[in-house]
Amino acid sequence: MSVKKIVIFGECMVELVSANETQLTKSFAGDTYNTAVYLKRSAPQVAVSYLTAIGDDFLSNELLFAMGNEQISTEQVYRSSKRNLGLYMVRTDQHGERTFAYWRANSAATQTINAMTKAPEDIDFFYFSGISVAILDEPQRLKLFELLATLRNKGCKVVFDPNYRPLLWSSRDEARFWMNKSYQLADIAFPGGDDHLALYEHVNTDEVLAHLAPFEIDEVVMKNGAVGVHIVNSDGHFIVPVQQVANVVDTTAAGDAFNGGYLAARLSGKSVTDAASYGAIVAGTVIQHPGAIIPADTLHKAVAP
Ligand code: ADP
Repeated sequence: MSVKKIVIFGECMVELVSANETQLTKSFAGDTYNTAVYLKRSAPQVAVSYLTAIGDDFLSNELLFAMGNEQISTEQVYRSSKRNLGLYMVRTDQHGERTFAYWRANSAATQTINAMTKAPEDIDFFYFSGISVAILDEPQRLKLFELLATLRNKGCKVVFDPNYRPLLWSSRDEARFWMNKSYQLADIAFPGGDDHLALYEHVNTDEVLAHLAPFEIDEVVMKNGAVGVHIVNSDGHFIVPVQQVANVVDTTAAGDAFNGGYLAARLSGKSVTDAASYGAIVAGTVIQHPGAIIPADTLHKAVAP
């Protein structure tokens, strides 16, 4: 079997988490990067490459090493001498409620498409999210969509998760416009219940699926927390139950981890329902540990057959 190749496009940031009143723990995370990590860890035989731009500073170097340690190809990581990594900080209060603060507006990743000297080619899958689109200016968004159309014409499958973050868009109408454009080019889509409620005011699965029907997406995989996963493809509509996790520690990256696990299984030849069950196990494990990226051995122990 030939090696499957996927390019994952987006932004990875520095993550600072309050360890206590005076100390911060530093790591690297971002929606698409989290998916890249969980995909590669779950399917080491898949060639995973991350497309982004980073700075020329020591933190950017550390991120490059972190990617290398995860066996993610950094061939399409571009360097900027003028900009650096975006950063976010998480504070958890005594009730476990998390608050996020972001410094990302002028990050290197916002210029990725301008920085790209060689567009990805000869790949099987291209993955991006609503955040990947939101951080780009309009000329870069248009170039990205040209690239997606070209890749699709050559048989590459486009994979999209909306991951709606209102603060990154100038209005909800603007977000809807670009999200719909993204769905239009998607072969596999990962809509989330919360995202569709906030973005389109959809209040149930039927409304989400009805919105997506005209886009004729081959594989729609709808996540909805612990409620279960709905999949619609040419074979029908399947509902995969999710084992509810009693001890939820931190839901950061639940959806990203699910996507990574799901794609790992699909790219390894598994059915959509088996892939959803596997994605749910990966996500269910991640939410029992703090942070977006949990230690590799913790994940492996939990998902080992
Ligand atoms: P997002 O992070 O995109 O909002 P969801 O909250 O829908 O995504 O969660 C993504 C996946 O994480 C779900 O499909 C499910 O597999 C898993 N998950 C989320 N919350 C729970 C929970 N309380 N118990 C078990 N699994 C969960």
